[in-house]
Amino acid sequence: MRRGIGPILLLLWLCVPLVQAVPSFWLTLADYAGISAIIAIGIVVLTGMGGITSFGQATFMGFGAYATALLTTQAGWSPWLTLPVAMAAAGLASLVIGAVTLRLSGHYLALGTIAWSVAFFYVFGNLDVLGRNDGISGIPPLRIGSTALLDSRSYYPVVWIAVGIVFLLTRNLLDSRIGRAIRALHGGAAAASSFGVGLAGMRMLAFAYAAVLAGLAGWLYAHMQRSVSPTPFGLNQGIEYLLLAVVGGLERLPGAVLGALVLTVVNDRLQDLLPLLFGSQGNYETIVFGFLLVLVLQTAPAGLWPLIVDRFSRHAAAHPGGGEPLPNRTLPQPGALVLQAEGLRKVFGGLVAVSDLSLELHAGEIVGLIGPNGAGKSTTFDLLTSVATPTSGAVHFLGASLSHRAGPAVARLGIARSFQHVKLVGGMSVLENVALGAHLRGRAGPIRAMLRLDRVEEARLFAEAHRQLARVGLAGLEALPARSLALGQQRVVEIARALCLDPVLLLLDEPAAGLRHAEKVELAALLRTLRDQGVTVLLVEHDMDFVMNLTDRLVVMNFGAKLAEGLPAVIGHNPAVIEAYLGSVA
Ligand code: ADP
Ligand code: MG
Repeated sequence: MRRGIGPILLLLWLCVPLVQAVPSFWLTLADYAGISAIIAIGIVVLTGMGGITSFGQATFMGFGAYATALLTTQAGWSPWLTLPVAMAAAGLASLVIGAVTLRLSGHYLALGTIAWSVAFFYVFGNLDVLGRNDGISGIPPLRIGSTALLDSRSYYPVVWIAVGIVFLLTRNLLDSRIGRAIRALHGGAAAASSFGVGLAGMRMLAFAYAAVLAGLAGWLYAHMQRSVSPTPFGLNQGIEYLLLAVVGGLERLPGAVLGALVLTVVNDRLQDLLPLLFGSQGNYETIVFGFLLVLVLQTAPAGLWPLIVDRFSRHAAAHPGGGEPLPNRTLPQPGALVLQAEGLRKVFGGLVAVSDLSLELHAGEIVGLIGPNGAGKSTTFDLLTSVATPTSGAVHFLGASLSHRAGPAVARLGIARSFQHVKLVGGMSVLENVALGAHLRGRAGPIRAMLRLDRVEEARLFAEAHRQLARVGLAGLEALPARSLALGQQRVVEIARALCLDPVLLLLDEPAAGLRHAEKVELAALLRTLRDQGVTVLLVEHDMDFVMNLTDRLVVMNFGAKLAEGLPAVIGHNPAVIEAYLGSVA
C-alpha cells in the first residue's frame, strides 16, 4: 500500500457511524471486529514474526476484562483508570505463564498454550470473587465528559481509535532494532543469537506484548458488553483469534485487521444464513467455517492480505542511511594471539565430529580451514562461536574463556560468522538482514521504538548496513526480500551482516560457494583489505585456487582431527593432504 493511505482510510473508517443510515447492527459487528483486530495484531507479532503459536490469547483478554470488571464494580474505580491495570494484569500473567511455557518449543509450546487456556477457563468459572460461571455484570460504561458510551455507535470510535494507535505503535516496534530481532526468531534464530540477540528475552517480549494487547481488548470488551463471563475467554475463542490472524495474513500487520473484519462478518452471516438453508437450527456455521478456512489456506497460505494487496504493489520500508558513522572497536595489534582452541572435541552420539583439535589464530591473518566433506569444519565453527558446546576442550578469545558464554556473549566479544547453510530471514529486506548484524551497536528498547524515539540511532545502524552492503558489492539490492537473491549472493549478504558487528574475528563458512569467478576475485580483495585493517579471518572453502591465493596459513582436517597445518604452498605438496583431500578436489 502506498504510504499515507493508511491514515486516510482510518479517518474515513472513523466517520462511518456519523452516517445515520448505517444500521447499528453493523456497527456492533465492527466493534467486535476492532476488538478482535487488536488481539490479532498481537498474534502477528507473536506468531507471524516470533514463530510462537498461541491458542491462548483469549485467556489474556480475560485477565484484562476481569481486572476492570472487578475494580469498577467492587472498588468503584473509574473505567479509564483501570485501563493500565487491565493491560498490566494481562502482561503480568503472561510473564508468569511465559516463564513456564516458553521453554517448550514447537508443537509442545502450542500444546502448552492450550493447557493453560483450558486451566484458566475453569479458574475464571470457579472463583467466587469472579462470580463463577455467571461472571460479573453491572460494569459501568465508558464516559467521555458526561456522555456515557452506551451503544455501538458511540463505542465505535473508542474501539477503532484504539486499533489505530495499536497498529501504529506495533508497526513502529516491528520497524526497529528490537523488531528485527523479534522477526528473526522465526527461521533465523541461530543467526540472531550469533549477533547478540538474547532469544529467551526476545520471545518473552513478543509474548508479553501480545498479552498486553489482549488485555486492552479485554478491557474494551468488558465496557462494551458491560458484563463478563468465562465463555468469551475460553479455548474456542483463542482458536478463533489465531485463525482470523492466519486468514488475514500472519506476516503482515494490516492482515490482522482484514482478517478480523472478514471473519467477524462471515461468522455472523453464516449464523443467519445456514439455518435458512438447512431448515433447522444447529451449529452448522462451525462446519462451514472450518471448510472455508481450509479453502482459504489452500489457495492463499500466506493469508488474504498479501493476496489482495501484493498484487498491486510490494513496498519494503525505505531506510535511507545518512546517520553518523558508528564508533569502531580498537582491534588487537597485528600478530597478537586472538583465539586459542585447545583439545576441542565434539561427539554426536557415536560419531566423533571433532577430535582433539588445537588451533591458534593471530590478529591480521587469513587462515583457511580445509578438508573433505564431513571432516568437522562446520562443527569447529560452531564450537568456536558457542553455537555448540564442546564435549571437552576449551576456547579462549583475547584471553577470555568462551565456556559458559552463549552466542550473544560471544558476539559481544567481537566474533562474527557466516553460515554454510545460509541463515537469513527470508521475508525481511536485505538491508534489514544486514542491520541485524549491528544489533549490539544500538541500545534503543521497545518503548523508544514504539514512540519512534529511536530514529537517530536507527539511521546510524542503517548507514552502517548500507556501507557494509556497498563494501561487499551488493549496493542496489537493499530493498529486496532476502529470499529473492541467488544463493551465492545470500552468502555475501551474510558477510555484510557479519561486518556490521565490527568484528575482531570473522569466521566464514564456504563464502565463495555459488559465486562467479569475478565475484570471487572481489571477495578475495575485500578479505585482503579487512586483513590489512587488522581483522582476523578464518574461512572454510573448497575452491583451492581461492584458498591458495588468499590465505596466509592452512589447517587441514580429516575425520575430525587436524591432519596438517602450514603455509599454503607447503600444504599443497603434503602427500597426506593430497591423499586425503586435494587429490579428490583436483
Ligand atoms: P564439514 O563442515 O567439514 O563438512 P561437519 O562439521 O558439518 O563437516 O560435520 C562433521 C560430521 O559431524 C559429519 O559426519 C556430520 O554428519 C556430523 N554432524 C554435524 N552436525 C551434527 C549434528 N548436529 N548431529 C549429528 N551429527 C552431526
Ligand atoms: Mg561444512
